[in-house]
Amino acid sequence: MTPLLLLLACEGPDGPGPGVKEDERDTGTPGIAATPDGATPQVDVLVIGAGAAGLSAALEAWRAGASVRVLEREEDFGGAANWAGGLMLFSGTPVQVDAGVADSPATLLAEWASFTGGDPVDPWVMSFATQNVPMVHDWLAELGVTWNGPGTDASSGPTPRVHEVEGGGPALVAAIEAPLDGGVIRYGAEALEIVRNRTGRVTGVRWKDRDDDVEHVTYARTLIVATGGFMHDLERVRAERPDLADRDLRYGSWPGADGNGLALVEALGGATENLGAVGLYAHGVPAPGDGHEELLGSVLSALPWFNNLGERFADESEANGFATGQARAEQPDGDAWALLDAPTAGTVVFDSTEPDGASLSFMELDAAGLVVHGADLAELAGALGVDPGTLATEVTAYNDYVLGRAETDAFRDSRDRTRTVMAPPYYALPIAITVAKGFGGVEVDLSGRVVDTAGAPIPGLYAAGELTGMAGGSLVGDYGFTGSLSAVVLGGRVAGGAAASEALGD
Ligand SMILES: Cc1cc2nc3c(=O)[nH]c(=O)nc-3n(C[C@H](O)[C@H](O)[C@H](O)COP(=O)(O)OP(=O)(O)OC[C@H]3O[C@@H](n4cnc5c(N)ncnc54)[C@H](O)[C@@H]3O)c2cc1C
Repeated sequence: MTPLLLLLACEGPDGPGPGVKEDERDTGTPGIAATPDGATPQVDVLVIGAGAAGLSAALEAWRAGASVRVLEREEDFGGAANWAGGLMLFSGTPVQVDAGVADSPATLLAEWASFTGGDPVDPWVMSFATQNVPMVHDWLAELGVTWNGPGTDASSGPTPRVHEVEGGGPALVAAIEAPLDGGVIRYGAEALEIVRNRTGRVTGVRWKDRDDDVEHVTYARTLIVATGGFMHDLERVRAERPDLADRDLRYGSWPGADGNGLALVEALGGATENLGAVGLYAHGVPAPGDGHEELLGSVLSALPWFNNLGERFADESEANGFATGQARAEQPDGDAWALLDAPTAGTVVFDSTEPDGASLSFMELDAAGLVVHGADLAELAGALGVDPGTLATEVTAYNDYVLGRAETDAFRDSRDRTRTVMAPPYYALPIAITVAKGFGGVEVDLSGRVVDTAGAPIPGLYAAGELTGMAGGSLVGDYGFTGSLSAVVLGGRVAGGAAASEALGD
C-alpha cells in the first residue's frame, strides 16, 4: 500500500505547536491515523463536544485536577440543551418532599419497565436510579440550578418526578460551563478523526479549525467523545428502524445531532446498543415546504385523532409521550389527522421549533395547503378517503365522553384539556411523526469506557451523553423517557471522573 503521509499542525493548550507527520499505515485500520511514537500528550483529558454531557465531563475532570481541553465545532457551548425546555427526571429530591411526593431509587426501578420498556436490573439503569439525585441533582443544585415541579407525564412513570429547570436548557448548560476556565473550550474546532498509536490506544484527535480550514492534532492521555445523538440523520434513523423506512419523518432534534461522533467511534470498532430505540413524538404538523421541519401545536393534545380507516388510535392527551408517538408512526399508510371544528380552528396557532422562529395561524396553515376541509364530517371523510360511517361513530363517542354523557373513553383517562368537535365546517390537520431523541448508542461500561464489539474497553476512549443513548447505551427498551438530561449529565460526570483518574494515574 502506498504510504499516505499527512502534514498536520500540532496544537497544544497554548496554541499551535510544531508540525508532526502522521503515517496512516500502522494501525491496520483504514481511515484511522497512527500517532507517531513518542508523541507527547498535551492535555490529560480531551473532550469532543461542549453540550450538557461534554461540559459535565470537562468540569468533573477539571475539578479532579486534570488539564482539560474541549473541542467544540460551533461558536457557542450547550448544543441541544439550548433548544430544550429543560425537563429532568429525579427520584427523591427536596422538591418532591416539599410536594408530598414519596419517591426513591427503589420506586423508580419498580416503575422503570412500565414506561421505558427497559430492564431494571441493567447495571446502567440501576446506576441511574441510585445516582440521579446525589450525582446529578445535588451537583447541579450546588452549581446554582433550580427546578419547578415535580410533574408527571406519559413517559416518566406514575410518580411525579419530572423537574423543570428554571430558565430551561440554556440555564442548565450555562451553570455547568460557568466554573470552567474560559480557555478550556476551543470553539470552531471540528473533530475529524480519532487518533491511535500502534498499540491501539487512543491518543488524540485530528480536527479542523472551521475559520481557516487548517487541520491540527491534539494529543491527550484520555479522550471523551460527547458529540450528541444521530436523530437529525434521518437516513441512519431509517436504517436502524426499518418500520419507519417509508414514513414522512420530521426533525424533533437540533441540526447538530448528525451522528458524526457515532461514525468516529464505530470506525474504531466501538460497539453500539439499541440504536432502534428512537424516541418519537406526535405533537406537531409537517411544516410547509420540502424540508423535514415540523410546527408544534399544543392544541393537538386536546383534539381527537384518526387514521385512514377513520379510527382513533391513541391517547391524544399524551402527545409528548413516546408511546403515543410510536402509535402514530404505526398507522396504516402513515396517515393520521387531528379533527378540528370551526370554533377551534379560529384559535389555532402552531409554533416553529427554532428557538427564535415565527408562529403560523390556522389561516396561514390553510394558505400553505396543509388543511383539508369538509362542510360536514361526511364531506371531510370523502376528501381524505376515510370511511365516513366509522369516522362519524368515533367522533360521536369522543364528544359523548368530553360532554360527560359517557363515563369512559377508548383512550383518554381524563377530560382535562379536551375540546368537543361538533360545529361545522370541519377540518383535518396531518399529524407529523417527529424523530426526537436517541435512546440507544455507543456502549460504555460503568466507568464510561467505550467497549469494542468483543466487549473489551478501547484503551483511552470514553463516551457520554446522547451519543451513548443518554447513558450506558441501553437504558430503555421500546420507549424513551422524559427528563433524560439527567442521564446525560450523569454519564458526563462518570466519564469525566474516570478519564481524569486514568490520566492522572490514580
Ligand atoms: C427541542 C428540544 C427539546 C428538548 N427538550 C428536552 C427536555 O426537556 N428534557 C430532556 O431531558 N431532553 C430534552 N432534549 C434532549 C436533550 O437536550 C439532549 O438529549 C441533550 O442535550 C444531549 O446532550 P449531549 O451533550 O449528549 O449532546 P449535544 O447537546 O448534541 O452536544 C454535542 C456537542 O458536540 C458538538 N459536536 C458534535 N460533533 C462535533 C465534532 N465533530 N467536533 C466538535 N464538536 C462536535 C456539538 O456542536 C454540540 O455542542 C431536547 C432536545 C431538543 C432538540
